[in-house]
Amino acid sequence: MRLHPAEWIRESAGYMKEKNKTGNWLLNAVYPRRCPICDGLLSREELYLCRNCVEKIHPILGARCKKCGKPVGSEEEFCRDCSRTRHSFDRGFAPYGYHGELEASLMRFKYHERQEYAGFYAHAAFFYVGKQIQRRNPEVLVPVPLHPARQRQRGYNQAEVFAEKLAEEMELPMNARLIRRVKKTKRQKELGPAERRKNLEGAFALAKPGQMKYCRILLVDDIYTTGSTVDALSLITSPSPRDRTRSRMPSSA
Ligand SMILES: [Zn+2]
Ligand SMILES: [Zn+2]
Repeated sequence: MRLHPAEWIRESAGYMKEKNKTGNWLLNAVYPRRCPICDGLLSREELYLCRNCVEKIHPILGARCKKCGKPVGSEEEFCRDCSRTRHSFDRGFAPYGYHGELEASLMRFKYHERQEYAGFYAHAAFFYVGKQIQRRNPEVLVPVPLHPARQRQRGYNQAEVFAEKLAEEMELPMNARLIRRVKKTKRQKELGPAERRKNLEGAFALAKPGQMKYCRILLVDDIYTTGSTVDALSLITSPSPRDRTRSRMPSSA
């Protein structure tokens, strides 16, 4: 289902009422909720976004890359990255492109303690791409791990915070201990596609080598760019090339 943001907010209102019959008012009083787009406080009637921000972010409603889910032109089957790269994962899903307002929101989510935004990201992801993901029948959600040193420094792993909320929406388990990040890598943002792949060589390992109990894993990250992180994870979690993992994120850059 692809709805305009304003319609989505209306649809979500009924859903939220049902889901949060108990406790929500109290929670709102103790921890005032913030709009993930402008960071302003939300009123009790505003569920995920404030009124002013509903129109500011745009879900991917048009054509998507058949591999990674990024927006593409109506004539294109694959995005530029996917037409040049052979990915190890099966399919990617993202509800939003990585544009200005959402980019700022994700930066606060990632670096400035705004873990609370995860509720909005997860609900939007579930609403816009949940059905497509469910069709692939994932058994478990696995967040992209941070290196322990980086996680200590930041205090949390934003992909895990997001995956936890998404697992609730999808009523599936999350396993944040399946994979470990064993190498401190450079920030991918500053690197080109080839350097990104090199940077991630040997970066991840199974926490219990040789013991993979899942066939269909939904890998969860906050931002998808060229797919090198998801590829590196798919390679170590897949039992065979026939059972490659899926990925999805709230935003694809
Ligand atoms: Zn707002
Ligand atoms: Zn693509």
